[in-house]
Amino acid sequence: MVNFWISEVYDIMNKRIYLDHAATTYLRQEAFSAMMPYLGEIYGNPSSIHAFGFEARRALEAARAQIAEVLGAKTEEILFTSGGTESDNLAVRGAAQAKKGKGRHIITSQIEHPAVMKTCRALEKEGFEVTYLPVDQDGIVNLEALKAALREDTILVSIMAANNEIGTIEPIEEIGRIVKEKSKVYFHVDAVQAVGVMDMSLDRLIDVDLMSFSAHKFYGPAGIGGLFVRKGTRLSSILTGGSQEKGKRAGTENVAGAVGMAEALKLAAQEREEEAVRLSELRDHLIERVLGEIPDSRLNGHRQKRLPGNANFSFDYIEGESLVMRMSALGIAGSTGSACSSASLNPSHVLLAIGLKHETAHGSYRVTLGKATTRQDIDDTVEALKSVVKELRDMSPLCQKG
Ligand code: PLP
Repeated sequence: MVNFWISEVYDIMNKRIYLDHAATTYLRQEAFSAMMPYLGEIYGNPSSIHAFGFEARRALEAARAQIAEVLGAKTEEILFTSGGTESDNLAVRGAAQAKKGKGRHIITSQIEHPAVMKTCRALEKEGFEVTYLPVDQDGIVNLEALKAALREDTILVSIMAANNEIGTIEPIEEIGRIVKEKSKVYFHVDAVQAVGVMDMSLDRLIDVDLMSFSAHKFYGPAGIGGLFVRKGTRLSSILTGGSQEKGKRAGTENVAGAVGMAEALKLAAQEREEEAVRLSELRDHLIERVLGEIPDSRLNGHRQKRLPGNANFSFDYIEGESLVMRMSALGIAGSTGSACSSASLNPSHVLLAIGLKHETAHGSYRVTLGKATTRQDIDDTVEALKSVVKELRDMSPLCQKG
């Protein structure tokens, strides 16, 4: 039942507001234009040894050099993959396979993306032992638990730079220092939500050996990503096939994708600081209004140490799925849980790890801001949220009225 107030709000807005940038971003015009020639007239295979191949190879290597420069890496330290999921799989499984002669213990956290989490679970079935570190109520990895977990046979630590659901930023530099006290241990960072948004310079993050990133999170195309592999880091290939990407990743490279990713990353780096300030202000405005104007609401994730564009709320007595659908009917696109798990009815493992009860975890709503988001969008979203939350609570048998 859509009540009068909701239809009034809908009339006011009558437009679509996209607030799901953590799931994916639109392809920016400059990246699209840079890709165009490689979707048309320049079509050689970069491995071919003729003029068509050389032309494609030149574009691929220029893209690699550009990405390396932005990330403070060496050109040969960047591998192209099909996206964040593959980069995470390659880093975790590839490092585990390469190092298994030295040990079979891996450390990760309880709030990793399924691309890391499920790879670790699969490795457990193959004879590896995995420690899943707890996090505090804000989602920060427990560093004492990390120190205690490191063992002689630990070969890999994999911790994300920033969480995709609750936006919490992890102390990657500190974690790196702790890991490198045991110098044989590799340190992988899933930086899929961080690259393009935060400073992830690898000449500063000197203890990071492997770092995953994905173009569609910073206004590049979907279906292309990368893995930074610090010089000297051993990594087994997880695909069998050709010897592309120095034998680490079989398969003909996606030249257009690589070119688009390089262009998008270059522009993201140029705009990063200013955009982070703008988004943080909008985010804080949203958080203040929601917490101040909607009773029984809470913010999930760290209040300050969070991605500039992320706000994740829980509303008591409400189902997140219903909230997403009602908001969507009003033209506002948010999410509950991560994009990949939103089809599942289980509450998010991240929200449970920060200590939320099942009911509270079920009532979560994630709003992720981006380049096109305006203050008006935020104010419209708050008004819509207020009415939808009230409407759902009025219908809920769990919500005590009176
Ligand atoms: N890691 C994190 C933290 C993510 O947020 C995502 C996607 O949402 C991934 C990995 C997977 O990236 P992709 O969608 O490029 O496969």
